[in-house]
Amino acid sequence: MTIVSKKSHTSYQTEKALGQNEQHSRSLIENSSDIIALINAEDIVTYVSPSITPILGYTPEEIIGCHTLVLVHSDDLDTVQQVLGEIRQTPVRSLRAEYRLRCKDGSWRWFEGSGTNLLHVPGIEAIVGTFRDITRWKLASHSHWSEMCEPEHFVRFYETDASLMNSVSEFIGTGLRSGDACIVIATQPHSESLEERLKCDGLEVAAARQRGQYISIDAATTLSKFMVDGSPEPGRFTKVVGSMIARATKGQRHVRIFGEMVALLWADGNRAAAIRLEELWNDLARTHSFSLFCAYPMHSFGGGVYEAEFTEICKQHARVIPAESYTLLSGPDARLRAITLLQQKANSLEVEIAQRKRAEDALLHLAAIVESSDDAIIGKNLEGIVTSWNAAAERMYGYSAEEIVGKPITLLFAPDRQDAMNLQFTQIMARIRRGERVDHYETIRLRKDGTRLTVSVTVSPIKDSTGIIIGASAIARDITEHKRLEAKFRRLFDSNLIGVFVSDFAGTFLDANDAFLDLLGYTREELLAGTMQRDALTPPEFHSLSQDALKALQETGASGTYEKEYLHKSGKRIPVLVAVARIEHTETCIGFVLDISERKELDRRKDEFISIASHELKTPVTSIKGFTQLLKRKLEKQGLQEEAAFLARMEGQVDRLTKLVNDLLDVSKIHAGQLDYAQEAIALDELIRAIVDTAQLTSSTHTITVHGASHCHILGDRDRLEQVFLNLISNAIKYSPQADSVDVYIEAAKDEVLVKVQDYGIGIPKEHESKIFDRFYRVYDENNKMFPGLGMGLYISREIVERHGGKMWVESTEGKGSTFFVSLPIILFS
Ligand code: ADP
Repeated sequence: MTIVSKKSHTSYQTEKALGQNEQHSRSLIENSSDIIALINAEDIVTYVSPSITPILGYTPEEIIGCHTLVLVHSDDLDTVQQVLGEIRQTPVRSLRAEYRLRCKDGSWRWFEGSGTNLLHVPGIEAIVGTFRDITRWKLASHSHWSEMCEPEHFVRFYETDASLMNSVSEFIGTGLRSGDACIVIATQPHSESLEERLKCDGLEVAAARQRGQYISIDAATTLSKFMVDGSPEPGRFTKVVGSMIARATKGQRHVRIFGEMVALLWADGNRAAAIRLEELWNDLARTHSFSLFCAYPMHSFGGGVYEAEFTEICKQHARVIPAESYTLLSGPDARLRAITLLQQKANSLEVEIAQRKRAEDALLHLAAIVESSDDAIIGKNLEGIVTSWNAAAERMYGYSAEEIVGKPITLLFAPDRQDAMNLQFTQIMARIRRGERVDHYETIRLRKDGTRLTVSVTVSPIKDSTGIIIGASAIARDITEHKRLEAKFRRLFDSNLIGVFVSDFAGTFLDANDAFLDLLGYTREELLAGTMQRDALTPPEFHSLSQDALKALQETGASGTYEKEYLHKSGKRIPVLVAVARIEHTETCIGFVLDISERKELDRRKDEFISIASHELKTPVTSIKGFTQLLKRKLEKQGLQEEAAFLARMEGQVDRLTKLVNDLLDVSKIHAGQLDYAQEAIALDELIRAIVDTAQLTSSTHTITVHGASHCHILGDRDRLEQVFLNLISNAIKYSPQADSVDVYIEAAKDEVLVKVQDYGIGIPKEHESKIFDRFYRVYDENNKMFPGLGMGLYISREIVERHGGKMWVESTEGKGSTFFVSLPIILFS
């Protein structure tokens, strides 16, 4: 604001005019473009010139009689009062000040007012005030719109149309007055109101248009002439706009352009095209001389963060003029204050945006979690209307979010259980309203396709930002399968077909069915009292087996089946077959226990029978053999060769019988741990060769060849080892009827000797390889059924080898042959 202590030109004129000729003065005053007013000693307006109407919108009658300060902006009241006070104190003194007056339409205009104290002049007795509208100066910040005549591309942001029209009418009006060509590319309402203003300012718009000095075209229509695929096409732009400028500059006239095409593009959301068009205008300025006034309504920059685009627009212009709320400020101090406030506002907005962004990110994060959850997560309001529905809910219930959001949750209630469901729902919602959470209740729900599912649901209250409960979130897990399995298991558990227990890893039985309790002689009360402990119920020799089973359980989740014994409450041992599996995600396991007492008893009886039978058979067989030999010799002596030959064959069969009985005896002795062994040093190579020679004598079909030598001694029972290798060689011959050779290899390693017996026969199917060393195990299939035997040889052989500290195994290929390996510890090299 400026206060200048000098007599204004207008004041002098007024004073002079009033003093000389009232008529002349009146006409002078009434034709002035400034507002002239008389103010009496009481600060009441006694006269105001008719120029008030085009400038402020009031008729003189509306203002005459009003207080001087009635139209003054509240921020400027102090200034005006101070100036008026000073004027009043000093007669004939003239003072000037800048301040705002309110227009009839509510907008504000800037005035430079000067007042002269003529209160003492008879016939006048008033302060004479002249008010010049300087809004245009203020609007243009430090520029004057009428001075915008240099070729320049500038932009003005505006808040109200009235303010825009003020500047444009000044810019174009000055141009028209000074003979410049003026081109207006505006919206229809803007061109109309501009022409209105120009006419008000006394300009002959029609005549100027006639002369080609004033060109006004519609912005949208012009735009359509060069826009291609949503972007301004440079060639067409130059053609349309460039030629118009060229026509207008004829006679070297300067050209002023007011353009709103960029603003239209911006308002359409085509911001890239707006920026591109600004660039095209700048390109055009290289070949054409014009000053271009662009205008953007400030509100088009709200509602989004267009910082980059906004900066780009500013960059495209040589001069940027802020909107009127800034330019209308009275002076540098006010502007600095405004800028500071704006900076602070921008700062806090940035912080707020960042906070909002973080909150949005967090929400997105949460939304992603909800969407990816395997559990159905459903939001509902207090009336039970579904408000949100995640992907798992879609999968689980078959309804899409679009189908169910906005519908009542009762849609999921089974029709035949509606009453119970409604009651449950009401009870749950009552708890929710109280702010309580309802944990893991199980209920039946209906899918879209009518099928049912069992769900476990947790419902929690949803609160708004003020803490008021506005709904509930339900997290539901489909436990239908779980329930089905549980029911199945329960049936198995309760059937008591097999003993079932649940125990922790430490070995405390937590639950068991009656079959298990009966098996061990305990009551349910004793079980629940925690008295049933695995270790106490297991004989010590099975502890390590139990530990192995536990280890497998922890590592793989299951123990595999194993035999053990439990101790009945009475102390009796109960042989059982056990299998234990871990219960997922817990430190507990479930065990299945089969009582095998009966099978064990049968086994025992069978072993007993074999033992007795073999003993009982041995004596008669031995005496048959003895008598056969005696008889054979007698017959030979009597020359009865034919009869003796029969007896020789009989003797051969008795030998086979003897071997069988001996094997049976060995088996039962092994089982009873009663097989005795001699301990002597044996030269292995010789032993093998002797066995091979013996075997070769009985075989006319196969050639048995010994390869290699070990040159070592082993410690053991010669007869038993002979039994082992004879068995291997005779098996090799027996199971290779199509072949004619058997190879025996002897190899010595560091501290053990390896004997391999290889045949080229039928081989052993893989699945049988590990079992052929079991007692009485024979491979029964098409290939094997014609081979005689009882499945005892390998069982006895392995037992003998292991008792010698050695190992025995087989490698075989079906149809190609087998190799049996025997490794024995060396005691001495010869
Ligand atoms: P067996 O009296 O039945 O021969 P063994 O204990 O000696 O009893 O052998 C057990 C089973 O192993 C046999 O029944 C046979 O199926 C298989 N077997 C043993 N040796 C051979 C071999 N060399 N080739 C193929 N199969 C064999």
